Amino acid sequence: MKVILIRPRPHKETIGLQHVMICEPLEFEYLISNIPNHIKNDIHIKMIDLIVEKKNYKDILINEKPDFVLFTGYITHVGIIKDLAKKAKEIFHNVITGVGGVHAEVVPNDFNSDFIDFIYNKNGIDGFNLTLEMLLEHFDVNKINEQLNTYNFKNDNFKYNYPDRKSVSKYRSHYYYMFHSPCALIKTSFGCPYNCSFCFCKEITKGKYFSRDMEDVINELKTIEEKEIYIVDDDFLFDRNKLRHFIDLVKDNNIQKNFLVYGRADFITENADIIAELKSIGLQAVIVGIESVRASDLQAYNKKTTKEINEKCIKILKDLDIELYATLIIPLDFTITDFAELTSWLKKLNVRFVNLQPLTPLPGTEIFNSYTSELIVERNSYEVWDMAHVVLNPKFMSIRRFYYELLKAYYKVIMRPSHLTVLIKKYGLKANLKMLAGSSFVSMQYIHKIVRGR
Ligand code: SF4
Repeated sequence: MKVILIRPRPHKETIGLQHVMICEPLEFEYLISNIPNHIKNDIHIKMIDLIVEKKNYKDILINEKPDFVLFTGYITHVGIIKDLAKKAKEIFHNVITGVGGVHAEVVPNDFNSDFIDFIYNKNGIDGFNLTLEMLLEHFDVNKINEQLNTYNFKNDNFKYNYPDRKSVSKYRSHYYYMFHSPCALIKTSFGCPYNCSFCFCKEITKGKYFSRDMEDVINELKTIEEKEIYIVDDDFLFDRNKLRHFIDLVKDNNIQKNFLVYGRADFITENADIIAELKSIGLQAVIVGIESVRASDLQAYNKKTTKEINEKCIKILKDLDIELYATLIIPLDFTITDFAELTSWLKKLNVRFVNLQPLTPLPGTEIFNSYTSELIVERNSYEVWDMAHVVLNPKFMSIRRFYYELLKAYYKVIMRPSHLTVLIKKYGLKANLKMLAGSSFVSMQYIHKIVRGR
């Protein structure tokens, strides 16, 4: 049976981080490596990454003649995936289609379509394997869906084979995250023990949190060729003892990697000694949800941090020369003064990289229902749910002005001559030019929004 796994290219309207990062499709690599041995010889599987692939989708389908096409994506890809599934069925009437990924797990109904046969809304690996086994035994789609719906998948441990990174070897050199290039991904834990109101990640594991055995993580790290490693845990900096164990194992095994991780400001301020030790074994950068400078926002988000904690965290990372990628949520009641205050606060703290996200109540999150009456975009205009579009009405300015203030804040914080000099020294001219090209593309998308006023 011929199976192709498709990662779609984002819609042109989506304001995309893909211009400054393209991460490897880890979920597909897990699928490939975990096909059960007893059916492996019967499955011919291939992964196609349309973000970097030069051939077009239709030609690929005609060439590959798949029996089963599986897609992955986020909310922004829902419309595109439905279109791609439709195209596949138009070309090959009998082709089977399916979709997995985080959005399919949290809001599966978004993918309801005559052209999609399977929506994997829990444990994609086991569901995919069950589908393969039943397709090989010639069960029909209805029978397989019946089984998928009743099967009791366990999802509180992670005893799977390491992802098959070689399955995307032709694309690997294209995978990068900002200045980390080429960059490989690894996952050491699932879910998050916190409960921020706006967060989509915590919905994926329904509030559960579990982490892999550190020895197992180290063994996987040893198999990765790239030096740059992005640990894609929702919150890697959580358990002090586990991190100490990780540090010891990296040292004992003489692992020479650079790490990029997610972490919370409160952990960093309370565990500066651990952060310093992590730096000594290769920690290069931390993505921190700073979220806001306003106390009332932090409280509304249930972030359990404060402005002071954020400031301390930023200082610790600066002192240790660890790059901070700060993410902030911009509420729609922001005034021009709020934008100015935020910008000068970030500049005062010498923050170099920020991601400013207009408050977006993503479908599937705790806050979605309380904002449904205020949405200014259609629920099914999936391509604009990218955390960069304004989806709620700004209270104190026009949409056009809101985009303008966002873009201005980006430029004021990031494009400072003093920063550029440091960045060129640290990462080289070529990497900076690549970043500049990517961020200019995003800026153009914002400029279009300012011109169009929507
Ligand atoms: S925002 Fe971060 S800390 Fe908060 S629940 Fe989500 S992953 Fe956890």
